[in-house]
Amino acid sequence: MRLLIMGPPGAGKGTQAVQLAERLGAAHISTGDIFRANVSQQTELGKKAQRYMDAGEYVPDEVTNAMVKDRLAQPDAQAGFILDGYPRTTDQVATLDAILDDLGTSLDAVLSLKVDPEELIARLLKRAQDSGRSDDTEDVIRHRQEVYTKETSPLLAVYAERGLLREVDGIGSVEQVAERIHAALDR
Ligand code: AMP
Repeated sequence: MRLLIMGPPGAGKGTQAVQLAERLGAAHISTGDIFRANVSQQTELGKKAQRYMDAGEYVPDEVTNAMVKDRLAQPDAQAGFILDGYPRTTDQVATLDAILDDLGTSLDAVLSLKVDPEELIARLLKRAQDSGRSDDTEDVIRHRQEVYTKETSPLLAVYAERGLLREVDGIGSVEQVAERIHAALDR
């Protein structure tokens, strides 16, 4: 299957995407994870991405799009993939459409995890204490929510119009949310 998993920062996309990819035998492609790995190895890509990430801003589309194009061409993505954290802008949607067109394929579904904004801030502040991620300070957390609302939430309507959107309640245990995701994909 070829899926997107969308939702605001802190909605639990990453946790669900890892499990779902394993279950479906699909590649888990998290743009945030790829950027973080590049930052920690101080590659050229990491150097370009770091200041945006630290400020809670999006990395420029041309950098992100080129990285995803490369990643989707890898052998493990040919049997299926779950894109986690991409696309996040309308320009990225257009690029993804073109990449999939070139590969002669298309998306099967777009999962949207719904979580109340105040619950999200609380979750992220807790994660900040546990993980020490440099983009997990309170100001940056709030800014990342605003950027999501402005830049990314409009994409949900685009995929709804295409008949691909499956909304899932993201409140509950990891297992409960996973069950809802499986049910949404079976519908
Ligand atoms: P995430 O782990 O998905 O929350 O991503 C962490 C950070 O990586 C984001 O706050 C952005 O700075 C950057 N990032 C990840 N995915 C994208 C994307 N699709 N477009 C632009 N920036 C991204």
